[in-house]
Parts: sequence; structure tokens; C-alpha cells
Amino acid sequence: MVEYLLYSDSSKEELIEKENNTNSRNIYCPVCDCIVLRKNAVTANETKDEFSTTIPLPGSNNKVNFSEETPFFWEAKNQFTFENVGVSKSTNDGKRYLSCADCDFGPIGKIENTKYLIAADRVRYSL
Ligand SMILES: [Zn+2]
Repeated sequence: MVEYLLYSDSSKEELIEKENNTNSRNIYCPVCDCIVLRKNAVTANETKDEFSTTIPLPGSNNKVNFSEETPFFWEAKNQFTFENVGVSKSTNDGKRYLSCADCDFGPIGKIENTKYLIAADRVRYSL
């Protein structure tokens, strides 16, 4: 069985590479063993306004009123940065969300202002 590291306040420092602010570990789906991003592929985006830190709860059908805050997002340049990712169709308000390409769990992230953002606490990390 593969073991993973989960996001927490105490693991946060281990997850971010100090020199370049990128992910220090491979990033996986929280449910299955599908790899989403290789290490050093994305940058920690710690912008802290309400608009940029919320993400709909899993299974809440992408309704923004059931959103929760995430500690920070990993920012990817574009879809080709990902090893595997699913992209939803646009919702009524024009938002698109990211999910696991294998098991469809999501949202694990969102697309906002053409930025691809992965919620740090919606994914697992290699040990
Ligand atoms: Zn999955």
C-alpha cells in the first residue's frame, strides 16, 4: 500500500521547496493512486483574499455557497503542467473546476483568471 503525506499546518513547510517556492513532493489524488503533478511542477500561491482562497466542497455540485477556504493553492502554468487532471465544463457563472482524471473525485482545484489552481488540502503528497 502506498503511503501519503496530507496537508496540515505542521507539514506545510515540508511541502514547499524553500529555494523556488514549488512543490517539494509529487502530488496525488486524495482518493486513488493517480498522480496529478510531479515535484517542482507548481508554485505555492498564498494570496489571501476571499475570492482566491475558496473552493466548493466535494460533491456539492460546484455551488459556490457550499465553499470552504483552502490554506493556499498550487498554481500551474497551464493544463500541460499536469500529469493527469480532469477539467469540468463551465458552470452557469463561467467557472471551471479540476478533478482526478482517474476516479473523477473533485473539485481538487479550479481555473480562475486563466490560472490553474490546486487546493493544497484537497490532494495527497508523496512521503
Ligand atoms: Zn482519483
